[in-house]
Amino acid sequence: MTGPRTRFSPSPTGYFHIGGARTALFNWLYARHYQGVFILRIEDTDLERSQKLYEDDILASLQWLGLDWDEGPYRQSERLDTYAFFARELFNRGAAYYCDCPPEMLEQQRQEALARKDKPRYHGRCRDRGLTPGPDRALRFRGPQQGVTHWHDLTKGSIAFDNAELDDLVLVRADGVPTYNFAVVVDDLTMNISHVIRGDDHVPNTPRQILIYEALGAKIPQFAHIPMILGPDRAKLSKRHGAPSVLDYQKMGYLPAAMVNFLARLGWSHGDQEIFSREELIRYFTLEHVGKAASIFDTEKLSWLNGHYLRETPARDLAPHLQEFLAQRGLQVEVSDRLVKIVQTLQPRSHTLADMAEQALFYFQDPRPYEEKAAAKFLTAAIRPVLQTINERLAGLPSWTEEAVNGVFQEVQRESGRKMKEIAQAVRLALSGRAASPGLFEIMEILGPEEVHRRLQAAMAACR
Ligand code: GLU
Repeated sequence: MTGPRTRFSPSPTGYFHIGGARTALFNWLYARHYQGVFILRIEDTDLERSQKLYEDDILASLQWLGLDWDEGPYRQSERLDTYAFFARELFNRGAAYYCDCPPEMLEQQRQEALARKDKPRYHGRCRDRGLTPGPDRALRFRGPQQGVTHWHDLTKGSIAFDNAELDDLVLVRADGVPTYNFAVVVDDLTMNISHVIRGDDHVPNTPRQILIYEALGAKIPQFAHIPMILGPDRAKLSKRHGAPSVLDYQKMGYLPAAMVNFLARLGWSHGDQEIFSREELIRYFTLEHVGKAASIFDTEKLSWLNGHYLRETPARDLAPHLQEFLAQRGLQVEVSDRLVKIVQTLQPRSHTLADMAEQALFYFQDPRPYEEKAAAKFLTAAIRPVLQTINERLAGLPSWTEEAVNGVFQEVQRESGRKMKEIAQAVRLALSGRAASPGLFEIMEILGPEEVHRRLQAAMAACR
């Protein structure tokens, strides 16, 4: 038995968003789980709205997510002959007819129906006129006017539509361009797609597509319609929810592993497990555990997952990414052992690479201005002599071991009678400019004795 053939078929009419990425992932996982084939197809027949820029964005996003395709990208705009062939076939079989209804007439009827609060539908004027192909003639599907079109959806169960509800849809427009419902059937059929996994906004299209398969005498694929993704306010996810394009997440410093893990859990589950490696996703993913309810896009969860993957990824692998994020902030640094150490100090405390870069700045530049509130609290006249003593004793150490440095702090604490927290916070501000930072010894090791000396002196001067 050969494995399933799935496809992801985005329209390049906008930047690639989360919903598209989730659909792509489910198709990819299904193909990988069952050792099938994953096909990429660009649905660019909407010539006015399709742009190369968006296609590039889709490809780059899939690559970033690591969703590799086995065939394609096919482009509908390069397959017009195939659609023309199947259009003739449907016409020859009597399953389609030509229609010369002028657009104004159709628009007027649409408006009238809407005014009556009816569903707009084609009135069938040309259904039996026996028109032949010609200019300004669209090809329409001759749909059955009775009966029911039914399928067993792999995620939603049994779905049925009354054929009387479906009007005769246009297959090929008067300008020769195929419509979505027709092109998608021809493509899925000629590409031998076995499973159509897509968003449930396409449910109303499915009976129309099934009828076209039937008219062609073709095998109907299995359908799995996956529930929508909603924003935290339960409205359909949109830009309003701060749900930018997939590559925006890359720019914000999310890791593809976190994104893939996050997307997988939008509508699919495996017990109560939240963290999945790519291999686990492939091993566990089936359609049985795709839920029926809409899923909620939760940015906090994404951030939590990203924090997890930032901690799990070897520091050496993150260093080049940190380098890029620092470069975006105008800081050119080398990928070195030092940078790897810096990453290690920030891994437990970063949610994104951008956040890590922000927190890393003080390693490379003057930490001033200090965080204002903390400086007012901890950089006091009373602490100045304490910093002075620490600075002197550190300078006197033959080498910096954690033990020796801690010894200095403890000694100074005892002698000065100040609380350790006060002392540590003053030193922390001096070295990092912040009230929260990686461990003091870690920072000191990375900065080195001379820089620590300079920073302590600068802080002393700021004590008041
Ligand atoms: N091109 C369609 C879209 O972007 C997908 C169609 C399908 O999956 O059948 O929504």
